[in-house]
Amino acid sequence: MEALDKRAEALIAEQLTEWDTAREHYAQLTQVQVKSIRFPGFRFDVQFNRARIRSTSAPVDAHAIRERPCFLCRENRPSQQRAIPFGDYDILVNPFPIFPDHLTIAAREHIPQFIAGRVSELLDFTRRLDGFAVFYNGPEGGASAPDHLHFQAVCRGVLPVEYEAERWPEKSLLREKDGIRIFGMEHFLRKALVVDGRDEKEVANAAGQIMEAFASLQPELSEPRVNIVAWYTQRGYRLVLFPRQGHRPRQFYAEGEGRILFSPGAVDFAGVIVTVREADYRRMNRDLLTDLFLQLTLNDESWKELKERIRACSGRNRA
Ligand SMILES: [Zn+2]
Repeated sequence: MEALDKRAEALIAEQLTEWDTAREHYAQLTQVQVKSIRFPGFRFDVQFNRARIRSTSAPVDAHAIRERPCFLCRENRPSQQRAIPFGDYDILVNPFPIFPDHLTIAAREHIPQFIAGRVSELLDFTRRLDGFAVFYNGPEGGASAPDHLHFQAVCRGVLPVEYEAERWPEKSLLREKDGIRIFGMEHFLRKALVVDGRDEKEVANAAGQIMEAFASLQPELSEPRVNIVAWYTQRGYRLVLFPRQGHRPRQFYAEGEGRILFSPGAVDFAGVIVTVREADYRRMNRDLLTDLFLQLTLNDESWKELKERIRACSGRNRA
């Protein structure tokens, strides 16, 4: 059978000819305004993308989720949306794209968004979908369908964190074992943990250990608040995990002019800010981004504790 990345590219091309909604939204993407906001050594690309409003402002509380038909379940999908079945998942074209290649990888079963035991599958997709980065929004970290397990995949090279994770000068090595290295990254408005290594199981195992260490700092949540972005290169896997303190900034809940529709997920944490209203797009600048991310990234005290736990942890666990 043809390689999965080739089949996915073909699916995107086909869906854009046969599915009006997808075609319109991908065509609109060429009109999207983008501006870069530069900081010393890193940058954010801010996108003004009206079509994403549904995703940004969606209520994700348990009641709202129960009341709506799940848009990732096969029986509720638009009739024009086709799938490539692979393993336990269906690969779909995302009809509300942020980038020119944007896939949703939805579990075939309606099971909750939960990463434990699934990191290997996420990594497997990064290797099979050559040219794509694959990401995961945790149920507490901006997933718009926290009740249905899914990943997303976008073309490589569009997320600034792909470069920053390789080159960040202050990356500190927290642990090196069995060919797996775990780094801490900070001072780029966010905190992040970077796992790199060649062995899929070992990388997944390390990610699982990070999640367990983090879970003990957020015991009140079903899963600690994270976004994960991963990709595969000739040098192996790269997995970047963003531990978070908050879901949405206070400005999201403000009224009137103070309101900013900013409800970030993995893409925003990876350096592409998606705004859905022109006023928000215009307002984004260094000071505002600094304020927003400081509210949401892990606070200094918990970050220090998390790094200590990762340094100390050497045992095996399920990934
Ligand atoms: Zn579902």
